[in-house]
Parts: sequence; C-alpha cells; structure tokens
Amino acid sequence: MSAEERVAVAPIKVRSVMTKSNLPIAGYSVNPYVGCTHGCKYCYACFMKRFTGHGEVWGSFLDVKYWDAPKDPRRYAGCTVIVGSVTDPYLPQEEEYRRTRAFLEEMKGSGINLIIVTKSDLVLRDLDLIASYPSPLICWSVNTLDEDFRKDMDGAVAIERRIAAMKKCHEEGLRTTCFVSPIFPGITDVFAIIDRIKGFCNYIWLENLNLRGNFKAGIMEYIKEKHPGLLPLYRDIYDRRDRTYWHMLDENVREYAQREGMLYVIDKEPFMRSADGSPVIINYFYHSEIKQSAKKK
Ligand code: SF4
Repeated sequence: MSAEERVAVAPIKVRSVMTKSNLPIAGYSVNPYVGCTHGCKYCYACFMKRFTGHGEVWGSFLDVKYWDAPKDPRRYAGCTVIVGSVTDPYLPQEEEYRRTRAFLEEMKGSGINLIIVTKSDLVLRDLDLIASYPSPLICWSVNTLDEDFRKDMDGAVAIERRIAAMKKCHEEGLRTTCFVSPIFPGITDVFAIIDRIKGFCNYIWLENLNLRGNFKAGIMEYIKEKHPGLLPLYRDIYDRRDRTYWHMLDENVREYAQREGMLYVIDKEPFMRSADGSPVIINYFYHSEIKQSAKKK
C-alpha cells in the first residue's frame, strides 16, 4: 500500500476559501486542503493540527475543502493572493479532487495578483488557467539537489521534476521563484542550487531552517544519526542561538551576488525586478543583523 493510499481523506464544507493573511507578501491566502500529504519533517504548518481537531500524524490526513464560489470575484481585484501557505495546492490528491483548479476557475478574470507555492509539477496541468491571471508568480521550494536528503525530508516530487516545471513555466513567460527553504546548515548548498536554476527564475528567496516548532527533536535526532559531524553546529545554532553561521552565509551570498552581477536584497521587496532580467536574490533570514548586512549593498 502506498503512502498516498494510507491518507485519510475527508470532505469538509467551509464558507470561503479566501482568508485574510498577515504574510508580508499577500493580503489573502488560499488553502484548498487542510493538512499536507507531503509530510515534510520540518513543516511549520503542522500547527494546523491543533486548530482543526486532527490528532493524526502530519501528512497522514487530508480534508478536502468545498466552499461557496465568490459572488463577486472582482471585489478582490488588485489584491495579492497566495495559494498554498499551509498546504501544497498541487498535492497528488489534487489530481482527483481538483479544488485548486476550482479556485482558479472561480477567480479567473478577478484581477487578483496570484502567487502559487508548491513542491509539485502538477501545476503544469493548469498553466493555461494560471496564464490568464495578470503577472502570476509560481514558487517551487527547493532546499537541496541531493535526492537522498530530499526523500528523508519530504514526500513531494523529485527535485529535478520541480526544476523542470520551473523551466517550463519560465519558457512560457510566467514569473518563477526558487524558494530555497528551509536552508539546512551544512547540508543545503545554496550556491549549487542558484547555479542550477538561475537561468530560468525571476526570484530566489532564501529562508533559514527554523526549529521553533515541535519538530525540533526529530530534526536534531536526524542530524545526530545521519550527519553526526554537524551536530555541534546544530547545537550552537538551535540550542545556544549562535548566529555566526547565518552571518557568514549572508556575507557569502552577498559576495556571490556581486560576483555574478545579481541583485541581493532584504525582505519586504519580494517583487522588485533587476534591470537586466537576471534573478533577484531575496534574503528572508530573520535576524536583524543579517538584514543590516544585506542593506549595505
Ligand atoms: S509542502 Fe509545505 S505545507 Fe506541505 S508538509 Fe511540506 S512544508 Fe508543510
């Protein structure tokens, strides 16, 4: 029996799928599902379990949302809407339930600024629909080029499939983002990833691994078992709150960007464009000191 078949799927009725968002990049968020069957080991969204009455293991359940179609989609014109803030809108189950596609069809012509965040290439199914939105942006999370590490951490499609989808969308004229997140200290090779995708993406967003959630113990156990040489570094960063690693990475990215002639900026400017069309690297590290460093550029 595959992992997909073991997922407990249930339909639920909600009034609306659009919720106000306090994310800096969007006014509304849309999550057509509750839960996320990719079951990433570092998932910050697993806090959802507390609010939705789910006691199961994260990744083993999925509520499929059904909602009333908005009566006046044009009232959201000009609003930025992020699809997939606490689930992946292109989970394997989307092939059957098509709830993300339903949302895109309902909002076609509404004039919203659409952002889609995914770890899948199923998004290619909806390219025609997505392309009908003004300046849509599709983001793929890629935090490694190493399939073994990827399989240890997430149950989504292979990295090369994500990259191929990114390339295809870019060739079709859609804006693309490579979301290098979460960056695992000593494991995620940020520069190898940028070198791999910089020819076909508009933005490269960087976000560090945050171990605030209750998945910290699991990640530390994984590092101890699979990367014991990195354990002292992880203890420094996540037990003693030592920020040296992030400072150094920030400096290295800044130097890399200068060398490559790429823009490197801090958060709050997620959609700025470079003059020559090369990707813009945006730092979403949370440390103010690092933000200051990026500002120097
Ligand atoms: S894809 Fe995102 S929401 Fe889904 S399990 Fe992974 S981190 Fe969580």
